[in-house]
Amino acid sequence: MKKTESKSSVTAIFAAIAALGLLLIVAVGVRQIRASTAAAAAPAPRLTLDPNQFAGDTRRAYTAAEKHPEVLAQLDCYCGCEQHEGHKNLLDCFRTMHGAGCDICVGEAVTAGQMYESGTPVDQIRAALQARYGHGG
Ligand SMILES: [Zn+2]
Repeated sequence: MKKTESKSSVTAIFAAIAALGLLLIVAVGVRQIRASTAAAAAPAPRLTLDPNQFAGDTRRAYTAAEKHPEVLAQLDCYCGCEQHEGHKNLLDCFRTMHGAGCDICVGEAVTAGQMYESGTPVDQIRAALQARYGHGG
């Protein structure tokens, strides 16, 4: 009777150790899976401000910047910000509040977005913006 008891308690200890080890492996595994899914699910860093904080044409302009950053990055802004603010292209206007206070930036981005979505090539969009906004610039 006594012999069986001690044998079963040794077995129980081994079982407990094995279970603990398994638990540790599972815990580490879950943590790694969580980390990798979190990284995969994280959204790309926002290039421009959230359009939803604006209204009307300003919202349309920020939406165009959000949807087509690669297009706006190839276009010039004619509001003077390229000289005064160090902007390199029209996309820069929408990284900050700058675009929200500038009719030229907004007009250009809305026009560019509409033209691009109707299939106009970027060099034609650039030419159209230059003709419309580029006077004296
Ligand atoms: Zn600008």
